[in-house]
Amino acid sequence: MPVLNGLGDCEQHINDAVESFAGKRPVLEPMLRAFGNILREKSRLAAQLAAGKPYDLAVDPSRLSRGVPLLAGVSLEPLQEQLNVSFNAMLNVLRKTFSDLDEELSRLEICYRERKLDFVNLSRAYLETDPRVLSETARSLMVSEGVLGMVVGVLLAPVLEVVALSYAEQVHQARWLKGFCPVCGSMPSISYLGESGEQASEFLTGGGGQKYLHCSMCGCEWRTKRNMCPACENEDKDRRVYFQTEDDPAERIDVCTECGAYLPCMDFRESVLRPPLEIAAVGMVHLDAWACEKGYHPLANTLWNQVR
Ligand SMILES: [Zn+2]
Ligand SMILES: [Zn+2]
Repeated sequence: MPVLNGLGDCEQHINDAVESFAGKRPVLEPMLRAFGNILREKSRLAAQLAAGKPYDLAVDPSRLSRGVPLLAGVSLEPLQEQLNVSFNAMLNVLRKTFSDLDEELSRLEICYRERKLDFVNLSRAYLETDPRVLSETARSLMVSEGVLGMVVGVLLAPVLEVVALSYAEQVHQARWLKGFCPVCGSMPSISYLGESGEQASEFLTGGGGQKYLHCSMCGCEWRTKRNMCPACENEDKDRRVYFQTEDDPAERIDVCTECGAYLPCMDFRESVLRPPLEIAAVGMVHLDAWACEKGYHPLANTLWNQVR
């Protein structure tokens, strides 16, 4: 089982998944097409960056054994050029996708040309979920904090996808058991069940396959305990429940009644082909809506669970 969802899901794979979910839930078709556009560009860009200049980050993989994500506290300064390239590419697709945000996105483009946007600093603040830097920057640039945060998250993702790919083997070897990402420290946006592979006592297999988490930011994937809440590490089965609809039992949402966090989960044990997880997550957004109505909150804020 790969640790990473392959660098850059290929265009046909994304298109097929969009068509498949849109066919199943026509009401979600505009949303699926919009996020399909973003994912295609993100994948293209990640492949371009991976083929370009090697990243020169001061990463120490031995920290994984102490439960420290690879990029925690590491300077993102060497990624300046890649972040700028990503901003230009991703801004274009965001403008086409979210036309009602055009004014604010244009404003950000002007600020970028005037060298008022420090993506290294903003990316670090984003990863450390430090709202102060984002809110102060948004105020000084006269854009909303929500739009600035969205743009920083979107431009950072393909850049970090390349980091995740280059350390995939070290992450796999480290047997990471935390609920947050071993590469960038972000929370997962979706999980999935896969076939049981290598056996290990800490991973409950019990004929139910193994569970993997997918990082909401860099796309890194790592194996987790089947019944553990990634947010609060609660493993009490009486305080872990899941819900699914009758139309597709392979899609469900896991809820922790201890901390109130939820996470969509796809069961791929019977699947030959697996859709790109971000498209799958958009295709399951009706389950997000259900969980939010019940008062639960997502583990990670994503474009699709915020735009509802
Ligand atoms: Zn990550
Ligand atoms: Zn929890």
